[in-house]
Amino acid sequence: MKEAQIQKLDRLLATMEQTLSARLTGEIMQQTQEGLRQVSSDDGDSAVLAEALEVASMLGVNDAKTLEAVRKARKKIKDGIFGICEMSLHAGGKGHAISQDRLQVIPQAENCIDCQKKAEVRVAKS
Ligand SMILES: [Zn+2]
Repeated sequence: MKEAQIQKLDRLLATMEQTLSARLTGEIMQQTQEGLRQVSSDDGDSAVLAEALEVASMLGVNDAKTLEAVRKARKKIKDGIFGICEMSLHAGGKGHAISQDRLQVIPQAENCIDCQKKAEVRVAKS
């Protein structure tokens, strides 16, 4: 992949990182406050708070996972190994590249589309 393209994706990843961390803290705070407000008006129904916290953590999980992947991708750019399919590396050898089309849509992608599909089939079966 060309240096200029990697830099473009790096900028995109940087923005994603900022947005996700902001959203992650914001969402959880908001949900928790909502929960607390309901608890106090319901004269202390702790089930509401428990539910609100559960929702907050569910909302947070996907963002947190994405954020982790985004940070990993940025590290790979620094290490000069960005765009190489991780599963193919684990399989041994030099590995193969993730297609540029895929990286433009999901710059934080860890695997190429073929390996990703295989991984998803495996998860579905287990
Ligand atoms: Zn692959």
